[in-house]
Amino acid sequence: MKSVLLIDDKESIGKVVSIYLSKEYNFAFFDDPLKGLEWLSEGNIPDLIITDIRMPNMMGDELLYYLKHNEIFKDIPVMILSGEDSTTERIKLLEAGAVDYILKPFNPLELKIRIKKIIG
Ligand SMILES: [Mg+2]
Repeated sequence: MKSVLLIDDKESIGKVVSIYLSKEYNFAFFDDPLKGLEWLSEGNIPDLIITDIRMPNMMGDELLYYLKHNEIFKDIPVMILSGEDSTTERIKLLEAGAVDYILKPFNPLELKIRIKKIIG
């Protein structure tokens, strides 16, 4: 079973996405990016990371840059969940290595389909 890590400061997002993903994927959720990084540093290597942008402690774009410049994590696809419909931001993050950019509010089914296209 492939694994997906979701990081979003809204626990409700984690709950909803879990309902859609947990039958087909090993699903891990953290409401704090620092806790997510801790989980990764414990040796957990998911097949996909999905991250929110606006979060306390660490912004999603910082997290993306960190992961993409880290030897161990740089090849893990990172999908962005954003509340901002900004072309500039979308281009910036896609250029920085994000594999996809999904606007909130999103349909969880669409998210699942996009995940399937990336990791199967
Ligand atoms: Mg947020």
